[in-house]
Amino acid sequence: MTFEPLRYPFPEAPVEGEATEVAPGVLWMRLPLPMKLDHVNVYALDEGDSWTIIDTGFDSKRTRRVWEQLLAGPMQGKPVSRVVVTHHHPDHVGMAGWFQSEHGAELWTTRTAWLFSRMLMLDEQDTPPAETIEFWQSCGMDAEILEQRKQERPFNFADVVAPMPLGFKRMKQGDVVRIGGRDWDIHMGNGHAPEHLTLWSRDDNLVISGDQIIASISPNVGVYATEPEADPLGDWLEACERLAPLAREDHLVLAGHKLPFTGLPSRMRQLIENHHGALDRLMAHIKTPKTAGDCFVPLFKRAIGAGEYGLALVEAMAHVSHLYQIGKATRMRRDDGAWLWQARD
Ligand SMILES: [Zn+2]
Repeated sequence: MTFEPLRYPFPEAPVEGEATEVAPGVLWMRLPLPMKLDHVNVYALDEGDSWTIIDTGFDSKRTRRVWEQLLAGPMQGKPVSRVVVTHHHPDHVGMAGWFQSEHGAELWTTRTAWLFSRMLMLDEQDTPPAETIEFWQSCGMDAEILEQRKQERPFNFADVVAPMPLGFKRMKQGDVVRIGGRDWDIHMGNGHAPEHLTLWSRDDNLVISGDQIIASISPNVGVYATEPEADPLGDWLEACERLAPLAREDHLVLAGHKLPFTGLPSRMRQLIENHHGALDRLMAHIKTPKTAGDCFVPLFKRAIGAGEYGLALVEAMAHVSHLYQIGKATRMRRDDGAWLWQARD
């Protein structure tokens, strides 16, 4: 089967504080992120006398200022009555609690996203806990980076996420919800984040996909110290295979990062095949035993800078661990705690 290539009907991203209307009553806006991926997309859907917003950005002084600009400008001073959060990552959930407390908005999300967010808010650390260090060692983290990280304040969720008051409305697989004058089917993504919302309009061609489906970057799929034996890549492939049959050529996909696009059937194939390609290259690479940290070259086919090291390591771990969990690889502990992964003959 041949699919249409990806197309970008809105090639220019809205500048800070402004919005692009991508469909009647649907505003696309951007918030800054202080990292290599320097933005997150958020959307506002017109409810008549108020807005439903999808995702919220990091909580920072700068984001709050941009939101104030958006609310007063393109959002015409109407209140935000509902916040939908696609998944628990801080660039998406960061300001949700602020909209709840300051605007009286309702929070709608999945149960797992809410529980994870609330749990991580409480997990504040000045230095990495022993379990995290042990996990990094099991990944074969570079010795110099490991020593440095042991001394540093780790990334704390609470540093970039506003306090979240009690209470949310659960969204789950198979729900149909009315947002912005449209009925949306709810389908769960997985693998990038557990129980990740995707919304599929019944009334027009819109798909709101969060980070489950992005046009020009492959969403990060990683294993973390929280659940070292997880198989997020297995979860990712299952979710993509399940969502792929829903994809239509006329769909306009509104994702959490990068540009809105069409060509979703093709993109779903790519999102799946990218990982199968990576797994094949890895199988050849681990003919002799390797740690996850030794697997960047076959996996990413490019050099990994210091700023991406952490994400690359958890992604490498997800791939070798998947090969182990489907029975294609074995693993052995090295003296320093690192898992050595090797392809089965
Ligand atoms: Zn994101």
